[in-house]
Amino acid sequence: MSKLETKIRVGIPRALLYYKYSDLWITFFKELGAEVIVSPKTTKKIKDDAVKLAPDEDCYSTKLYFGHAIALKDQVDFLFIPRYGGRRKKYVGCPKFIGLAEVLQSMLPELPDILMPHYNRGMDRSTRIGLVIKAFRLGKIFTKNPITRIRAITRAFRAQKIHERSLIIDEETLNRWENSETILNDFPIYNEKYKALKIALVGHSYVLNDPFSSLDIRSLLQEYGVDIITSEQMPRILIEKQMARLEYDIYFDYEREILGTIMHFLESKTVDGIIHLMIFSCGPDSIAGEIASRFSKRDTTIPLLQLVFDELTGEAGMRTRIEAFVDMLRRSIEKQTVFLTAQVHI
Ligand code: SF4
Repeated sequence: MSKLETKIRVGIPRALLYYKYSDLWITFFKELGAEVIVSPKTTKKIKDDAVKLAPDEDCYSTKLYFGHAIALKDQVDFLFIPRYGGRRKKYVGCPKFIGLAEVLQSMLPELPDILMPHYNRGMDRSTRIGLVIKAFRLGKIFTKNPITRIRAITRAFRAQKIHERSLIIDEETLNRWENSETILNDFPIYNEKYKALKIALVGHSYVLNDPFSSLDIRSLLQEYGVDIITSEQMPRILIEKQMARLEYDIYFDYEREILGTIMHFLESKTVDGIIHLMIFSCGPDSIAGEIASRFSKRDTTIPLLQLVFDELTGEAGMRTRIEAFVDMLRRSIEKQTVFLTAQVHI
């Protein structure tokens, strides 16, 4: 039986940009007739393999990518690891995304062939048409039928658009969340004793959405009755408004999202606190983290907790810090309530 009859198997590591573009990629390959295999959610074994195989100096998120690629190696005909520079003219993703496929290929020769199309709207002015042409050429590995390839591209773009529309909220929805008229994420487990807290949870999508990387902080916050919004959900217009306040331009696209969210809530004061999830040895994160902490020191009304994760981060220690932060927010709200009650009585 030929490969075409048995379906070509394409492996996608569940790491880094997977968390932004899984709908685009999976739809594209499935529409071409491929079987898509995504690596499992991060486990201790994936992390241990990753730490053993990846260069020491890599950030934790990139190291995890190695573990996910290895988890797929015997199950697929190809790995899909795009060399992605960025989707906007002026801004870039992370330089790591561009070199990852080649680094993996040279360090782990046992991996299957890697499909590594290059796309960088910022540096080489790749246009959307350019992206379509690249995708059309890539599709030839799976089918010679041009109509199937065009349809796969169109449906993949549409799937991505639907994903982004359901993820990114508009200003009106944000206002409703701020006024506790809607829940955007997991329902907080309320305790009658406490008022639900509102926290902005800020970080890269591959940290926010990978419970192993983030030590399942979302479930922990849910357990504590915290209602969260994530930086991924923020209206883009508000992020750009905050970026326009800076005297310098931030070129890392995802750091704009992170920093813009922190700055917005420091200014609007519509949350009780902000938690910034950072990755050890991440250059872009350290820039955004430093700027965020300067803004937070100028006006300390909204507490900002910055947590740095790496492969050595212990769950117990992290849990204690989060608990202490949530307790501090509750105490400060209680104090305000006592103060306001006292004023009313006067
Ligand atoms: S942005 Fe930071 S965390 Fe993400 S891949 Fe680059 S260095 Fe790693």
